[in-house]
Amino acid sequence: MPHSHLIKPLIGDHYPMIDFGKGIYLYDKSGREYVDACSGAVTTNLGHGMEEIIQSIVDQGNKVAFVYRSQFSNQPAEDLAAFLHEKTGYPWSFFVNSGSEAVETAIKIALQHWQEKGMPSKRRVLSRWLSYHGITFGALSASGHPVRRERFDSVIGDWPAIEPPYCSRCPFGKTYPSCGLACAEQLEIIISRIGADNIAAFIAEPIIGAAGGAITPPKDYYLRIKEICERNDILFISDEVMTGCGRTGTFMALDQWGVEADIAAVGKGLSAGYSPIAATLISDRVMDPILNGTRVVMSGHTFSGNPLSSAAALAVLKLIDSEKIIDSVDSKSTYLINLLAKLKNEFSFIEEIRGKGLLLGIEFEPIGEANGGSFTSSVVSTGVENGILLYPAAAGIDGRKGSAIILAPPLNSSKRELEEIYKRLRSTLQTIEKNSG
Ligand code: PLP
Repeated sequence: MPHSHLIKPLIGDHYPMIDFGKGIYLYDKSGREYVDACSGAVTTNLGHGMEEIIQSIVDQGNKVAFVYRSQFSNQPAEDLAAFLHEKTGYPWSFFVNSGSEAVETAIKIALQHWQEKGMPSKRRVLSRWLSYHGITFGALSASGHPVRRERFDSVIGDWPAIEPPYCSRCPFGKTYPSCGLACAEQLEIIISRIGADNIAAFIAEPIIGAAGGAITPPKDYYLRIKEICERNDILFISDEVMTGCGRTGTFMALDQWGVEADIAAVGKGLSAGYSPIAATLISDRVMDPILNGTRVVMSGHTFSGNPLSSAAALAVLKLIDSEKIIDSVDSKSTYLINLLAKLKNEFSFIEEIRGKGLLLGIEFEPIGEANGGSFTSSVVSTGVENGILLYPAAAGIDGRKGSAIILAPPLNSSKRELEEIYKRLRSTLQTIEKNSG
C-alpha cells in the first residue's frame, strides 16, 4: 500500500501526536505533558476542554451544521455579529475562516469603498516593515516579513512602506520621546510622495506579533497614525487577529490607546481555537458608500458564517463576558511580568521583556554559535523538551538577525499556572545557557 503523507511545517521532522488537552495543559500519546505558554498560535484564549463551548457546537450541529451564505442566514452568525457590535462598536461583521482571509477582506472592502465613492485612483495600500498579516497573497503583500515573503516575491505586492515603532532598536537611531515619533511621521512623508489621492488604506498590527515578538509602540503612536490617516482621507485598517478579543486586557488592543480603526480584522481568539472562524469588522463610514451603491461586498467563502464556528465563537465570547475574564488580564500580566523580570536578572542574554496584557515578548541576544533564527528555534525546541510550548517570533530590525519568543497563555490561566510557566521557562533557559558553553 502506498504511504500517505501529511505535510507538516518541517517535512521529515518528528511531531508528537496529540492525545488530549485540558485547560492550559496538552498531553501527547506517549503521556508527556506540555504547559501551553503561547495558546498554540496565540489562539486558545480559554484553554482546552471547555464543556460549554463544546456543547454549543454539538447543539448547533444537531440543528444544522452548514448553510450557504447566499441562500440562508443563521442565528449563531447573526448573534455573533450583534455581540461583536456591542463589544467593539463596529456595526458590520464579515465572517471568514482565517486571519489571512479577514485581512484580505479588509483590504478588498477598503478598495471597494473608494470605488463606490467615485474615487477609484485611491487604490494603493501601505503597511509597515516587520509585520505579519497572513500567508495568502494579498495579506503577504502587506506583510513586512522577509523570510515569509522571499519565495513569492514575483507575485506579491511591495506594500511595506514605513518602519515599525521598535523603540529598543529604533530604525532611525532615535530615542522616545525626543524622536518626535519619527516612525509615525514617516507615514506622512510617504503619503506626500505617493499622493493621498492614490492611497486607499494603511494597515498595521497594534502590537507586532510573529514578525517582532510583541513589539509595543509608545503610547501616542496610534493617535498620531490615526490623525495622519484621517487628515489624508486614508482608511486605517487594524489587524487585530493576534491582539483582539481580550488578549491585551481590552477587547481590542487599540482600545488601550483610545483609537478606533475604520476596519479591523479579528481571528485566533475569536473562537479560541474551538472551530475556525475570523471576522472583518467594518464601520458605518466605510460601509455607507457600498450601501448607497452596489450593496454587494465583493468577497466571501463557502464556509463564511459557518453555523458551527459561529456558535463556538459566540459561546467563547459569552464566557469571556460572563466570567469577566478580560478584567483579570492586567493583574495576571503584572504577575507574569514580575516573574519574567527575575529571569531577566538571571540570564544576561535576555535583552527585553515587552508587550501588553497576556501578549508578552522576550527578545534575546543570541549566544554561542547561533544566529537569530536558529537561537529562537533552539529555545522553542528546548522548551518542548522541558514541557513548555513557546511561540517563535522573528526580530531584529531586518526581521532576520534578531531572536524573540511570545508568551501568551490562556486568559483564564491561574497564578499557579503562570508560576509553572516561569519554572519550565527557567529550566529551558538554563539548558540553553549550559549548551551554549
Ligand atoms: N494577522 C496577524 C496579526 C497574525 O498574527 C496572523 C497569524 O499569525 C494572521 C494575520 C494570519 O492569520 P491566519 O494564520 O489565521 O491566516
